Amino acid sequence: MSIAKPASGLRADGSASISDSPRDPRDPREANPAVAYSRIAAPPASECAWCGHQFGGEDTRRPGRIRCAKCGVATTSPWPSDEQLGEAYAPWYRPEGGRFSGFGDKVLRRMRSTLANRLHRVLPEGPILDVGAGDGNLIAAFRRNGREAVGVDPYAAKNHPHVRAVELEEMTGAWSAVIFWHSLEHLRRPVQSLRHAAGLVAPGGVLVVAVPNATSLQARVFGDYWLALDLPRHLVHISPQALLSQIEALGFRVERVSYTRGGQVLFGWLHGLVVRLPGHPDLYDAIRRTEARQGAAGPAVRLYALAAAVVALPFALIGSAIEVAARSGGSIYVEARREE
Ligand SMILES: [Zn+2]
Repeated sequence: MSIAKPASGLRADGSASISDSPRDPRDPREANPAVAYSRIAAPPASECAWCGHQFGGEDTRRPGRIRCAKCGVATTSPWPSDEQLGEAYAPWYRPEGGRFSGFGDKVLRRMRSTLANRLHRVLPEGPILDVGAGDGNLIAAFRRNGREAVGVDPYAAKNHPHVRAVELEEMTGAWSAVIFWHSLEHLRRPVQSLRHAAGLVAPGGVLVVAVPNATSLQARVFGDYWLALDLPRHLVHISPQALLSQIEALGFRVERVSYTRGGQVLFGWLHGLVVRLPGHPDLYDAIRRTEARQGAAGPAVRLYALAAAVVALPFALIGSAIEVAARSGGSIYVEARREE
């Protein structure tokens, strides 16, 4: 078994491939697939994972994170160990049968298709690289359009035909687009990864990034209970300003910014309103399939969460409308083009 094999169909035209670095024989997944695997070293605990600023008295400490006074991005603190991340990404997190009950997974697939169809129309010819591709839904949607598409995800299932269990930094080549769909915040060195991705985008190609908006109205209203804090999986908590200035510093022209396209706006409000009720019912867990739940909540608690969500819906709609109108939505979506 080797990760050094080039991505099939891509090397032939020289456009893109996985670099020929030899496989590390100490790859911990070989011994224990549950252990988190990353070749990327964690940043020192004393510094901002976004900008490298040394934390001091001026930085804001909150439960589970420190907000950098210099760049405004918060770093998860204490930083999770490999073992903690391994548990956080254990098979329950993304079971083969899908994460959500009933039509939830269908809705997600439909949203991925809409995104892929639109990007397929606006992108120049060439292959697509999806960073943190997970179960490969976005890749599959591009491939239905006849577009070459490959994903990388260190936690990908083995033997996925188009999603490779490698780090972004192991990829080379020239790509029409590199997409971070809610994955940048999971990476140990997000700016280093953005820089590597920028080097993979062909002239005229596009960098696409969607992340939770850590300065959104819902993030501020729900604080430590905000859905998209998602500790310990989210290692950085990014502001639109920090993201946009970094992308521009890499030589990209920002063409589209959306506070709705990245999703998680209405659900962020619903989850936040429900979890503040007595007993802190977890709506996100309640809508997941049995095998995809982290908590051990019984049917009564799940029913309580779902009923509360119905009552909370009008308030969640109002909150969503206010934050989107104020360009402070629960997620930020950016498309930026590399100059020709
Ligand atoms: Zn910083």
